[in-house]
Amino acid sequence: MDLFKSMELEGDEQNPEIKNIEKVRCLIIGSGPAGYTAAIYAARANLKPVLYTGMQMGGQLTTTTEVDNFPGYPDGITGPEMMEQFKKQAERFGTDIRFGLATGADFSGTPLRVTFDENTRIIADTVIIATGATAKYLGIEAETKYAGMGVSACATCDGFFYRQKDVAVVGGGDTAAEEATYLAGMCKKVYLIVRRSVLRASKAMQERVMKTPNIEILWEHQAIDLFGENGVEGAILVKKKGTLEEETVRIKIDGFFLAIGHTPNSDVFKKYIETDPAGYIKTIPGTSKTKVPGVFAAGDVQDPHYRQAVTAAGSGCMAAIDAERYLAG
Ligand code: FAD
Ligand code: NAP
Repeated sequence: MDLFKSMELEGDEQNPEIKNIEKVRCLIIGSGPAGYTAAIYAARANLKPVLYTGMQMGGQLTTTTEVDNFPGYPDGITGPEMMEQFKKQAERFGTDIRFGLATGADFSGTPLRVTFDENTRIIADTVIIATGATAKYLGIEAETKYAGMGVSACATCDGFFYRQKDVAVVGGGDTAAEEATYLAGMCKKVYLIVRRSVLRASKAMQERVMKTPNIEILWEHQAIDLFGENGVEGAILVKKKGTLEEETVRIKIDGFFLAIGHTPNSDVFKKYIETDPAGYIKTIPGTSKTKVPGVFAAGDVQDPHYRQAVTAAGSGCMAAIDAERYLAG
């Protein structure tokens, strides 16, 4: 396959949409823990990184309140504050941070090309993709209304705030089973809201759920709304929707956890980068390298398993070191 033949830059100049063209040694896409950590390492290695933040400057953690499990903050820190500190540290070593969204990529040859906001073309020797993954939500209005007030998509992150309280987890896969079991260890009661009459989770995870006395599975239930004055106080569910036995059920809960999957933000790169069926970028095990030389992936966009700030930061570090070694030949 003739993937990596060198390309002429003049082609870009002929595209009327492209207003700016710039050549950089290291392009980092994404401003979450993975992107900023990659930037800190790349800048200190004198790669003069240019980092594009995407629409969510600071990444997923800017949507949460307390972060209690990132080492180095014994008293905890809010997500937005922590990400501001990541940014400052990346800037301290000279990272050029810009607001912009990657809207296209061409990794068919070297140098690598990424388009931002349809009008800026970055020609890069190395690209670090750190675009994260977005938790899926049900799409009901109440999820927005109670965001940060009882609705969460991360039990490991927010479970602590519901100690000795009643919560619900939506989903029937491994994540839901894992999150329900985790929450059961600290909450009074956990409802697992499953839309079918079976779990998708692995047998081992299912067994763990079944053996946990304070988890109650609500089979064939779907959440349609939440209620509460100053935060979630309960959920409205429909049992056996669309059948003759359909009925509405109300449960009293303080926390409503979504565990119905994540969508990795990899679409822009999919033409050239290998992904798993869910869209997570595949890297060569133990490295941040993708199959395309010079293109590296870090953080949640390549991590279907852990999806934590500290693991994202760690893999950002790996990506910068891999990029530095690639450039050194
Ligand atoms: P993200 O943080 O998702 O950042 C992705 C970045 O990529 C964003 O800046 C986005 O703007 C950018 N981007 C996306 N697409 C494009 C594009 N096309 N072009 C340019 N940029 C793009 N983890 C913990 O360890 N502790 C916690 O307490 C914790 N709490 C959480 C609370 C909530 C509500 C959520 C949702 C997650 C929480 N997590 C927590 C998980 C943690 O936030 C993630 O694991 C971590 O943020 C992943 O980092 P990342 O850098 O890979 O991606
Ligand atoms: P998943 O396997 O895709 O499961 C998503 C679950 O959410 C399914 O049960 C699905 O129901 C349900 N769901 C989806 N949309 C819904 C909606 N609108 N309303 C109600 N329910 C909805 O996702 P995941 O659990 O996040 O797992 C992703 C991958 O990571 C899997 O490969 C999994 O094995 C892996 N994983 C492994 C571990 C582990 O091994 N410890 C832990 C976590 C994740 P249906 O079943 O009806 O489709």
